[in-house]
Amino acid sequence: MVENAQAIERLSIREPIPEIFEAWYLLSAAADAHLHGQYAAARALFARANMPEVYDWAWADWKRPSLNIRFPKPENDTVSIPKADRDLVRAPTKAMKQQVLARDGYCCRYCGIPVIDADIRKIVHQNYPDAVPWVSSAPEQQHSAFSCMWLQYDHVVPHSHGGRSDEENIVVSCALCNFGKQEYTLRQLDISDPRTRPPAIAPWDGLERLRGEVGNAMIEKARTALGRERFQAIKLKVMMAKKARADGEKAGDIKPYTNEDMRLSPFSIDDYR
Ligand SMILES: [Zn+2]
Repeated sequence: MVENAQAIERLSIREPIPEIFEAWYLLSAAADAHLHGQYAAARALFARANMPEVYDWAWADWKRPSLNIRFPKPENDTVSIPKADRDLVRAPTKAMKQQVLARDGYCCRYCGIPVIDADIRKIVHQNYPDAVPWVSSAPEQQHSAFSCMWLQYDHVVPHSHGGRSDEENIVVSCALCNFGKQEYTLRQLDISDPRTRPPAIAPWDGLERLRGEVGNAMIEKARTALGRERFQAIKLKVMMAKKARADGEKAGDIKPYTNEDMRLSPFSIDDYR
């Protein structure tokens, strides 16, 4: 057999789909509508962002993380260590989370999708319980976009393998990339180390502008012409990506989106200048 395999770097367990970015656009528009007192519009936009495609994406690899393993026992990989030897602190402290957020922004370091803190989802759920359903015990009764974009702090080297709960080893991630990774190593999952590439610089506030007094300063940012332009551009890209997929399906030539495409597209302002 010819060794022609030029390794294609896999960034995450599952490649993002355009619908995630469409849902993101809708959530952001909903938040702006809410902050402008347009509550009916906000409700409708939040409801539209609850897309079944996003639910299917997020839950496909989250339900049974063991299915995500590609290499059960890679040579020289890290292994589980005795509990007594592990970092005493497993969950990162609040201060640590803030440091990591300041570095990574509100984007998953693996797949690149935008993420939103659970606090924000709670605020939105309280205000729009019908449009933003959330039942902790029943994923199918959770708003798909808030579930998919649920901000997590992931140990790159699993805590059980001696990974520290420090800035070096913790990255911002989405729910799928954190829960789908569980206690497995990057090598078991065959994904590259997110720390080898710089965090995406995204002027995305994770909807923190909904947090209240503290977050209100951030809305000014979102109201800038650049912000509006950026969201228009995302909308356009999503439409184009969906059309390309539909055309490809018709022609029987389906070219899957790479998460690199999607990771780069919405986050680079230069694209839209
Ligand atoms: Zn992710």
